[in-house]
Amino acid sequence: MIFDTIAAISSPIGTGAIAVIRLTGENTINVIKSLFNIHAPEPKKMYYGWIKEKDYVIDEVTWVYHKGPKSYTGEDMLEIFCHGGILVTKKILEKIMTLNVREALPGEFSKRAVMNRKMNLLKAEAINELIHANSDFALKAATNQMDGKLSKRIEIIKKELFNIAARIEVEMDYPDDFEVDNFQFLKSLNTIKAELEELYENADNGISAIEGIKMAIVGKPNAGKSTLLNALLRKDRAIVTDIPGTTRDTIEENLNIRGIFIKAIDTAGIRKTEDVVEKIGVTRSLKAIEESKLILFVLDNSVGIDEYDKEIYNKINKLNKEVIIVINKSDIDNEDNFEIPWKEHEVVRISASKGEIKNLEDLIYNKLKDTVITDELALTNRRQKNAVKKAIDSIIKAIEGIELGLTNDAIMFDVRKTIEALNELTGDDYTETLLDNIFGNFCVGK
Ligand code: GDP
Repeated sequence: MIFDTIAAISSPIGTGAIAVIRLTGENTINVIKSLFNIHAPEPKKMYYGWIKEKDYVIDEVTWVYHKGPKSYTGEDMLEIFCHGGILVTKKILEKIMTLNVREALPGEFSKRAVMNRKMNLLKAEAINELIHANSDFALKAATNQMDGKLSKRIEIIKKELFNIAARIEVEMDYPDDFEVDNFQFLKSLNTIKAELEELYENADNGISAIEGIKMAIVGKPNAGKSTLLNALLRKDRAIVTDIPGTTRDTIEENLNIRGIFIKAIDTAGIRKTEDVVEKIGVTRSLKAIEESKLILFVLDNSVGIDEYDKEIYNKINKLNKEVIIVINKSDIDNEDNFEIPWKEHEVVRISASKGEIKNLEDLIYNKLKDTVITDELALTNRRQKNAVKKAIDSIIKAIEGIELGLTNDAIMFDVRKTIEALNELTGDDYTETLLDNIFGNFCVGK
């Protein structure tokens, strides 16, 4: 495949010691000639040079030429390491743009790598997930997939399906000489089905590790929800005041609790209200609670359990969610230390304002860790999960087809559909729209 030449600043925009500008495409060698006056650079060797604009120097740089197909994209590539100033990098990029090069779109380098078969879609997605990983479990899920064991497994499954398809085809072509061994086919298809189902069932762990797990913080006004969120975050984000009802809307924050990526939502009240603004807050809070995996129900040790708490409890109890009852303000003495009437949930005592929340963090970790542990074959996003689901649906139809004694044509159709779904999973069968959708979420320069 021949592509035009693209360039981008691949390091984050900002000031730093060094920045990286990358360029790839058929015009790479000409760009090297123009910039550095070297006609046949040695691949993978680091050169030293100056980038100039007419009569003045833009920067002193080092650079490496990667000759295609032995490069990230599979095409000729140039990597320039310049000084990490915002203006300097911009000027170098502008200079490159004058040499028949255009600015790369987000993820376009990786998109080319997939189109040039340098890596499959699973690996490209894993690299992106690795870049964005903000917790240990997310990192593990991404590196597991980058490692390629899942891709290898899928290739083996595809080969097996191709074999089955080929044998059915032979029987269709030579019905008198060759008879399909249905028993053997059923056995193979059922084994593949079981394997795909296992991938599908475990997919949520990878997705949770990467996307984060939603956790709602609920409780009556002034119980200390915002203070707790700040304590978990270790910074001041939610507004804390002692006027009940300050947190009028939901606030979502990304937390990293012992390596688990959690999206914590500080909810506004969930009590019936006539106030229009508050009503919106209540609706959003209820939605956030419904979407959460875990609920922290915060009680106020200084006032004890009242009707408002009971009302909230009744609402969340109906949802059948994992709940932790958090008794906050345990630093304040409360003579008639209240009894918790709800025995089915674990209870912890904390002081959010004093930052005494370790026991709560331990409990959150223990409750959630099993939902983010991934193995080498874990899927990591919904696109992958959907593709596997499609494959399962088709393989089930193929199995039913054999059991019902349908024609080879009909069975063949579903076996092919299974292969197509797996090709979609690994990116062996792609459309530009699919790739644009996926790579549009990548960084520029990746
Ligand atoms: P929210 O309405 O549930 O979000 O409650 P806030 O986080 O705004 O807290 C309400 C008040 O309780 C503020 O004055 C906090 O400083 C105070 N507060 C929160 N947590 C604690 C705690 O652990 N101990 C004490 N003594 N006060 C707290």
